[in-house]
Amino acid sequence: MASCIVIGAGMAGLTAARELTQNGWEVVVLDKGRGVGGRMATRRIENARADHGAQYFSARTPDFKQRVAQLKEAGVVSEWHVGHTSDGDLPPNPRFVGTDGMSAVAKYLARDLAVKTAQRVVSVAQTTLGCSVTTDTGHIYEADALVVTAPAPQIITLLADSAIELPATELAALRSIVYLPCIAVVALTGQATNIPKPGNIKFEQGAVAWLADNQQKGISPLQTSVTIHASAAFSSQNLETDLDGVGQYLIDQVAEWVAPASVGQFQVHRWRYSLAERRHPQPFITASTPFKLLLGGDGFGAGNVEGAFQSGLQMAQYLINTQ
Ligand SMILES: Cc1cc2nc3c(=O)[nH]c(=O)nc-3n(C[C@H](O)[C@H](O)[C@H](O)COP(=O)(O)OP(=O)(O)OC[C@H]3O[C@@H](n4cnc5c(N)ncnc54)[C@H](O)[C@@H]3O)c2cc1C
Repeated sequence: MASCIVIGAGMAGLTAARELTQNGWEVVVLDKGRGVGGRMATRRIENARADHGAQYFSARTPDFKQRVAQLKEAGVVSEWHVGHTSDGDLPPNPRFVGTDGMSAVAKYLARDLAVKTAQRVVSVAQTTLGCSVTTDTGHIYEADALVVTAPAPQIITLLADSAIELPATELAALRSIVYLPCIAVVALTGQATNIPKPGNIKFEQGAVAWLADNQQKGISPLQTSVTIHASAAFSSQNLETDLDGVGQYLIDQVAEWVAPASVGQFQVHRWRYSLAERRHPQPFITASTPFKLLLGGDGFGAGNVEGAFQSGLQMAQYLINTQ
């Protein structure tokens, strides 16, 4: 039986793992995080939920439309009417959210898969039969092929730490992928917000780029919470600043919609890699290594949840077709 190690339990890694498993491959997915989902991330504070990474996604390609229809049928995703006009006209592509938050979508995709969390891969090596990876807990996994879905700068570090040299063109392709940082705040609010329906505001200027009411969004029915995303410019300037101070500053910026006195607990998360601003045009790279090594994720292709899905799917199909 052909086997594969997938690094990363985000949309790309889980999609690749599901496709390979359905085609008879033996797959293990390793992720450094405590849970699955990667940047499809949801926090729980008291009885509230808040998505602090990806906010919604659309489905434009036939494969992803089909997958989203299955997820909708299973009750895992719902539509969020972001982009509807005030008279209710539909946008050309509906926007979807995880019914119980984005991470619940990943949990659903991870069901029945061999996923090991809290396993940071620290090195990769060639073996006589294929490849092996070692994690920070000392576990070693071996397989015929390796799929890496970490953000490109982390792929470069992992390969360099493993003394795996890529040809200059492949390294340059990875280096050309650029991610924007994003400081995200999730906060409990003791009363309804003034954020208009359907529960989001996009800002073109200033420190805040995005504000969402997670109760109106439908993912936090029991208690109101808000998500604030700082702009890329503000985030780059404040990435190393004291997080609590930055969080309070961002909350103060949205006082018109979220009464400062209503804000309770809040948490701040620093995303060094949020949206891939510059991406590789292909859905993945096949590395010129003696063993099968595919490099993908949202830095390849469309640069969003759907792009990550396509990258994962196409890496799996490549492995199946070249087995
Ligand atoms: C703030 C923010 C807002 C966003 N908004 C949107 C949006 O509204 N719509 C949209 O479509 N997209 C949005 N995105 C982008 C979207 O979240 C990503 O495009 C998508 O989730 C990427 O999936 P992925 O599987 O490629 O990568 P990831 O989700 O990052 O998964 C990679 C995984 O690899 C793991 N990993 C990395 N290195 C190692 C290692 N050495 N060992 C083990 N595991 C490792 C990580 O822990 C991670 O879980 C947003 C992202 C952020 C951060």
